[in-house]
Amino acid sequence: MRYVLALIFFFAGQADPVSRSWNEPVTPFRIVENVYYVGASDITSYLIATPKGHILIDGGFAETAPMIRRNIEQLGFRVSDVRILLSSHAHYDHAGGLAELKSATGARFYASAGDAPQLARGGLDDPQFGNRFPFPPIAADRLLHDGSRITLGGTTLIARITPGHTKGCTTWSMTTKHGLNVVFLGSPSVPSEYRLAGNPRYPNAIDDYRRQFAILRSLKCDVFLASHGNFYELAEKMKHRGEKKNPFIDPAGYRAFIERAAERMEKVVAEQQKR
Ligand SMILES: [Zn+2]
Repeated sequence: MRYVLALIFFFAGQADPVSRSWNEPVTPFRIVENVYYVGASDITSYLIATPKGHILIDGGFAETAPMIRRNIEQLGFRVSDVRILLSSHAHYDHAGGLAELKSATGARFYASAGDAPQLARGGLDDPQFGNRFPFPPIAADRLLHDGSRITLGGTTLIARITPGHTKGCTTWSMTTKHGLNVVFLGSPSVPSEYRLAGNPRYPNAIDDYRRQFAILRSLKCDVFLASHGNFYELAEKMKHRGEKKNPFIDPAGYRAFIERAAERMEKVVAEQQKR
């Protein structure tokens, strides 16, 4: 019964205006070197193209998956050349399209040990959201840990486990051929319904968030990307792409964003600990 209710919610999900506004189609484009944008207006997805096949980070909502497939093809790549699928975190707006993309590409799916169980449950039993945001479940072919490296066709991605938003939330980093450090930030956000203090379903949530910020501060970032476009002003930066100075090279924007997010998180903690 729980699953039936969850499915009903799932199919009604995209009817809400916020989800729809995050999921408007976007013309795919090259961000830098072999990194391409193949996501929607706010819900992101990235293709890292290599001569040995491609890596895809995040699948958006279930409704985003067909868009991502079209975007990959529109760039001139083959969907069947995607070899590895990765996830930023086990929420319906980033992991919802992964199951469809896995069967469309035949890729292997690698997930953090912290998020893999929630991905396999299709988002049910989330320590913060409960059963509110289910998505098509996906099982991991390999489990990743902090510092795990994935190499394909000369490109290496490093998984940094940046927990708090989810238990296995992952920030990906890579260095391009020309030496640019690219950060695909998972999520440092604290949704308004989150209970950080005294949550029996996630007793160490506060410590995890603080660990996340320590890791984020330690990363070198030239090209700032993330699971949501609004984290790094995607819409504004898209207007300036192709200009002499690549707008996605934004180390100051990265630093400012994580400090603002850390401040907001500490504010939530202080308020919740007062109660
Ligand atoms: Zn999320």
